[in-house]
Amino acid sequence: MDYVHNLINWSDELSTLKMNAKPLHSETGIIFKIKKYALHDGPGIRTTIFLKGCPMVCWWCHNPEGQQRSPQNMPIEGTNHCREEIIGCQASVEQVLAEIEKDVIFYDDSGGGVTFSGGEPLMQAAFLKTLLVKCRQRDIHTAVDTTGYAPTPIMIDTLQPADLILFDLKIMDANDHQRYTGVTNTLIFENLEHLIAMDKRIRIRFPLIPGITDRDANIHRLAKYICRFDGLREIDLLPYHHNADAKYNRLNIPNRLKELQPPSKALVQTVKERFEHYELRVNIGG
Ligand code: SF4
Repeated sequence: MDYVHNLINWSDELSTLKMNAKPLHSETGIIFKIKKYALHDGPGIRTTIFLKGCPMVCWWCHNPEGQQRSPQNMPIEGTNHCREEIIGCQASVEQVLAEIEKDVIFYDDSGGGVTFSGGEPLMQAAFLKTLLVKCRQRDIHTAVDTTGYAPTPIMIDTLQPADLILFDLKIMDANDHQRYTGVTNTLIFENLEHLIAMDKRIRIRFPLIPGITDRDANIHRLAKYICRFDGLREIDLLPYHHNADAKYNRLNIPNRLKELQPPSKALVQTVKERFEHYELRVNIGG
């Protein structure tokens, strides 16, 4: 059984709850997926909770259904767009915690825990912080996978109780970053440096997108930047793939990289070696 693909979509389970009717606050949020037995979202075996909403629109996004903050309809594959499912459900902290706690035995045995991802989980900062605090009270290891694109005071306050930050760095050039993600990168670097100053444990995540992020100049600038900080010695390479193609079709949104070939094994190895040249520990896939 491939545990990584054993996804639990809460849309069905929670569809009886009224969604999007109440304002978001610290006790409820909108999630769009729960992934059990995740092996690439931090150390050990993890449960990954995907929170809806993202300020970016990356060309290579593998979770386009996570970009919109509110729940949305998505046609069901093979039904000629006649039947739809709702992506995103309002869930309480207690509901999410109950789901997380089902797998504590796996976390304990593997050094794992829970990862909050998205979208951008800081879009639901109050909900995220409550979950982080409650996990800490239960001795459950937490990781937050973030773009770093959030108001600095909110990011600092929210991530204080997190054990590990999986921080995405994509493109060093400001114009290219704006072009391929929809936002500039200045705030992202500033926020990363705030987290470093807070002594947070951080792993950098780098999406390997042929022709966009894999350019030599980008990799060398990124590696040199990371090496300025003693606390940053680990980087996860996330190779582009086509697993999200069907979701773009179903959502009827442009899939700009539809024709792009995923990186070859040789390219992945070359990029890995480039980062290793800077004495960075490189994990492929996270
Ligand atoms: S930051 Fe992540 S979730 Fe948001 S658009 Fe980019 S790839 Fe998608």
